[in-house]
Amino acid sequence: MSKKFKVVVAGAGPGGCIFARDLARTGIDVTVYEKGEYETMGHDWSDAVERKALSEVGLDVPEESTKNTGALVKKPGAKDNAGKIFEEHAYPDMEAWAPDYSCRKMIKFRYITTDRRALGKLLVDQARDAGAEIKFGHEVVDIVISGGSTLGNVTVCGVKVKNLATGEEAEVSADVVADDTGFKARLRTKLPTATGIADEFNRKEFANVHRTVRRRNKEVNDFFIDHYRYGYHTGYQWVQFLNDEEIDTGAGVRADPANPDPKDIVAEFISRHPSISDNVVRGGQGLCLVGRSPCSLVAGGFVTIGDAAGQTIPMTGCGAGGAMAGGKFAAEVVLRAAEEGKNDIAALWPYNWNWFVGSGRGANYAGLTALRNILQDLSHEDISFLFRKDIMNAEMLSASINGSFTIPDLQTMVQTLLRGISRPALLIKLNKATTLGTKILKHYREYPRAWDPVRFETWRAKAEDLFGKTQ
Ligand SMILES: Cc1cc2nc3c(=O)[nH]c(=O)nc-3n(C[C@H](O)[C@H](O)[C@H](O)COP(=O)(O)OP(=O)(O)OC[C@H]3O[C@@H](n4cnc5c(N)ncnc54)[C@H](O)[C@@H]3O)c2cc1C
Repeated sequence: MSKKFKVVVAGAGPGGCIFARDLARTGIDVTVYEKGEYETMGHDWSDAVERKALSEVGLDVPEESTKNTGALVKKPGAKDNAGKIFEEHAYPDMEAWAPDYSCRKMIKFRYITTDRRALGKLLVDQARDAGAEIKFGHEVVDIVISGGSTLGNVTVCGVKVKNLATGEEAEVSADVVADDTGFKARLRTKLPTATGIADEFNRKEFANVHRTVRRRNKEVNDFFIDHYRYGYHTGYQWVQFLNDEEIDTGAGVRADPANPDPKDIVAEFISRHPSISDNVVRGGQGLCLVGRSPCSLVAGGFVTIGDAAGQTIPMTGCGAGGAMAGGKFAAEVVLRAAEEGKNDIAALWPYNWNWFVGSGRGANYAGLTALRNILQDLSHEDISFLFRKDIMNAEMLSASINGSFTIPDLQTMVQTLLRGISRPALLIKLNKATTLGTKILKHYREYPRAWDPVRFETWRAKAEDLFGKTQ
């Protein structure tokens, strides 16, 4: 049965490649259409990627080191490309600084700095080696639909693909179509509106991020430690050593014309640190999704993965790990469906449940979205106050940056009240954020286990109502 089952993937990002690789390994017929080229996969810089996600998809991740300065992890010997994807720096702990530099905390940073070009190519190689066909220079321009227009009765049965070199278009049929086209969600947004999952992400759900990798000027004695400046201009600003020769620095702000250009924030930081030279090695700027997932990641014959599915950590916009995890979960479910010869929404539904509940990711990200929505407009002064009073403590910061929502216990609530007593308006805002975040987290943990249109509609309406209160 699985040999006859045909899967088409749009986009060869981390999510699409893992999905294609895992299905192709079982003998399923998988074709990936990617509008870009092999040489330009990923980003022209190194990203912080979740260690857990990298290990879960089978990559050999170097051990965490115990210190945080200088070159810590040697790139391990290359038994395959996996050995070449990590920067020397382990990045195990990190200092989080208040926006006004008045206070700093050591937090756990469960990421590893990963060369995104090398990772992008490695994942393509793995999918291809597993038997997936990867067609570069091909853009998926539409989906082919049969059935009705609601989530329960629509079926995606293929795609329209354009060969970008010749301009030729062709229709390709498939049992399952996967959208891994990034935050523009090119295929999901072509589903009928009545499905309730076809909306584009809105402008408020993006951060504008700039990063630059510079040669280190070793002549200058201007030592600083890796750090995140948390809450700076509605986002964050960071610096880290990549290795002995190179420094990576950048900033992200909520995408809003009222905010400064992150490039200027970075330029200002560099102007204060002469050890960061003008010699640019790599880098770039772009939008980073910090929005929430649609309420379902599946429809008949359809799954969505990665940024297209909102699988990014709301506090940081880190989405490479979420995309790989999403690709893995989706493949497990599509494989089971293929074994049963099914592709309807009920057969694909377990992917929703795994994402939102089983893995804990979706529920935690939803809770964090509430925090982000309510707290993102806090002033530098307010955030610095929360740092100094340890209301924003190391544990809470570690959890949120690593993608977990912490439900405050009674002791924490009392401490917060006592420490923040001089700022009642701030406390009220904080209380609203944690209360709604907790309610949303708990609501997501009750996500319907199986497809049931009536139960799902009730669940969805309550989720929308809760998120509405965070605006
Ligand atoms: C400046 C910046 C910094 C970032 N920093 C980090 C970080 O430190 N850590 C982290 O984890 N994440 C980071 N991210 C986010 C991360 O890049 C994404 O979350 C991640 O790449 C999403 O993976 P994906 O599988 O959704 O696919 P994507 O990487 O979004 O790739 C989508 C692919 O689909 C292709 N495509 C699009 N439309 C079509 C179509 N119609 N037909 C065919 N192909 C199509 C594209 O060419 C692309 O190759 C950053 C993003 C930016 C912009």
